[in-house]
Amino acid sequence: MADVLTARRVQVRGIVQGVGFRPFIFKLAEEGRLCGHVANTSSGVQIHVEGPPERIETFIKAIRAQAPPLAQITAVDSRPVACGNSTEFKIIPSQREAGRSALISPDVAICADCLGELSDPQDRRNAYPFINCTNCGPRYTIIADVPYDRPKTSMRHFQMCPACQAEYDNPRDRRFHAQPNACEDCGPEVALEDVNGPLLRGDAAIRETAHRLDQGQIIAVKGLGGYHLAVDAANNAAVKRLRRRKHREEKPLALMAPDLETIRTFAHIDPDEREVLTSPQRPIVLLRKRAASAIAPAVSPRNAWFGVMLPYTPLHYLLLAYGFTALVMTSGNLSEEPIAMADTDARRRLAPIADALLTHNREIYQRCDDSIVRKTHGVTRFLRRSRGYVPVPVFLRRRQPAVLACGAELKNTVCLLKEDRAFVSQHIGDLENLATYEFFESTIDHLQRILDIAPQVIACDLHPDYLSTRYARSRDDLPLIQVQHHHAHIVSAMAENHLEGRVIGLAFDGTGYGPDGTIWGGEVLIAEAGRFERAAYLTPVPMPGSAAAIRSPWRMAVSYLAHTFDDRLHDLDIPFLQSIDRKQADVLVTMGRKKINAPLTSSLGRLFDGVAALLGLRHQVAFEGQAAMELEMTAGDGDAEAYAYHWEAVDDGRRIEVAPIIEGVVADLIKGIPAPQISRRFHATLIALFSALCSELRQETDLDRVVMSGGAFQNVLLSTVLERQLERQGFRVYTQRLVPPNDGGISLGQAVAAAAMWASAA
Ligand code: ZN
Ligand code: ZN
Ligand code: FE
Repeated sequence: MADVLTARRVQVRGIVQGVGFRPFIFKLAEEGRLCGHVANTSSGVQIHVEGPPERIETFIKAIRAQAPPLAQITAVDSRPVACGNSTEFKIIPSQREAGRSALISPDVAICADCLGELSDPQDRRNAYPFINCTNCGPRYTIIADVPYDRPKTSMRHFQMCPACQAEYDNPRDRRFHAQPNACEDCGPEVALEDVNGPLLRGDAAIRETAHRLDQGQIIAVKGLGGYHLAVDAANNAAVKRLRRRKHREEKPLALMAPDLETIRTFAHIDPDEREVLTSPQRPIVLLRKRAASAIAPAVSPRNAWFGVMLPYTPLHYLLLAYGFTALVMTSGNLSEEPIAMADTDARRRLAPIADALLTHNREIYQRCDDSIVRKTHGVTRFLRRSRGYVPVPVFLRRRQPAVLACGAELKNTVCLLKEDRAFVSQHIGDLENLATYEFFESTIDHLQRILDIAPQVIACDLHPDYLSTRYARSRDDLPLIQVQHHHAHIVSAMAENHLEGRVIGLAFDGTGYGPDGTIWGGEVLIAEAGRFERAAYLTPVPMPGSAAAIRSPWRMAVSYLAHTFDDRLHDLDIPFLQSIDRKQADVLVTMGRKKINAPLTSSLGRLFDGVAALLGLRHQVAFEGQAAMELEMTAGDGDAEAYAYHWEAVDDGRRIEVAPIIEGVVADLIKGIPAPQISRRFHATLIALFSALCSELRQETDLDRVVMSGGAFQNVLLSTVLERQLERQGFRVYTQRLVPPNDGGISLGQAVAAAAMWASAA
């Protein structure tokens, strides 16, 4: 070593464990001819480095610049310390307190190096379906507890062979401390079975699976976070059979295709989309369909988009190598239930759907569905944030108390706050049956354990009947704070954007319980973390039949017509009225007037539904938001003139009249204007209306920050054009980029709102 030696203590925070960080530091120190040591600690990685100051300087700079692909560094702090005159650089065992609060990496797609070995006939892991290294492979889904060491994972049953152990022990090896490290001799194995029992193992099992898929069979394939149901996406009859057996009528089915080139034969990929498709998270990406392709029509009927992902496990690559254009890879469950994870559960629940099971003996400890994203103007927007992203926290602006937020009812997630981090769980699903509720409870327990968080406060929705609310109430060990649904939506977007103070919040949504007992969803709030006022809302109209009105948008159309035209409703010369039964319509009108099972709603989602039905797009939906989605897809590009709109000052804010909008739509329908143009005018109206309203609110309140959240912002036309318009008017606009704008992002807002409310109550 050189004569002038100094020493520094470097603390690295973020996702730096289980991602090959210590070998990376080891290599970096060796390259810089530096001495010292590195160790995992409770808060990240700690380095003691000795050597000439300039070389230490270069070393510290390289930590951020050259970090391993899966690392996410949030801070690198260093300070001078006494020089220990070390003579080498070492990786030393984890310090005693290590583990509990260190961040756990999400599951990651197979890396390029491992993929190379997989297809290399000379490699000892050639065609081995469980190949992985410190840069790739399962993490979150195989962890039972922390610290993240092999005995705490589902790899604990597999004793490494000498060759694997040597890699594991060698800091210069890509598999140094790779917990799931394995090979054909010592690791997990695949097996094909059907109702009669085991059929084949290993390569033969994969070959037979491919053969059966080619024959049109449905095969349940065990993946990272659960089972998929796989079927040849080019075989329409097989896809239809899958839909029938799974009780999934129209919702698009996800596709997995071998490579970008193949995807391009059936969908368009722009450079942004390519980037997220090939990212280590490998989410399902919504891509525009090509007009004609080999993909069966039943995959994504009446939809302009395909949900597509690339393979992310070695097993996927091996399977797709048999020449499929794409496989449908949809979650292994009956509609509404959580994805099957345990083998016994998969056998029981998937037997009626799948002709055979391609399983393996590495257990899944945490269920985790595929994530779903869409790229809009370079920004990744989550529709579902799950595998590949969870449990990466959302970093907050400041430290928070330990809060557990229980989320909403649909697309449920939960969230735990700790220090300046918000841990939003994987997608749990719709809390409408026991199986999903159990998943919800076990996710809370598991996250509390692996993140070592003992909540001081529990937060939930205002809705008295949500299962998540009931759970929160049952935790009588903790103070309970209920957060209004749309307030939570807005605070979720505020939290991820590090906003404090008051903002104008646009909450455009389907359904959320309002403090006045009506159903909200077309709200403009003046909000801050701990409180909100309702500044404006769409005129509440009856939802005849309550939940039935969500499933049947034509009911909402009748309700809006009755609201707008009263008894003149039946005089309107529009095709919609000819398509429905007059008596039935009258019953709905009466229900609304007499307030029989017809709660009032200010929901923008319902307005979309109603207009979609008026345009004849659909009278019934198979899933929530379907009609609204089709209304958006109908619109296409092009300018359109807004319909008339106005609002009125009332005691509790401003009431935005929906009647002029409905009058405009009906006038166009009478004139025979085609649906795409009416849809464009409808969108243009909302954009003009809400940007004018924001300007009025800015004059009154001096607020120039607009925050947009809620399920209706999944509508790209509405969200992007409104955002641009507001920015042109000088507003700063904030949207959700880290969690979904739909109810999957609610738990984050609940947690941060509850923390603020708790602080102000204390
Ligand atoms: Zn790898
Ligand atoms: Zn081995
Ligand atoms: Fe919502």
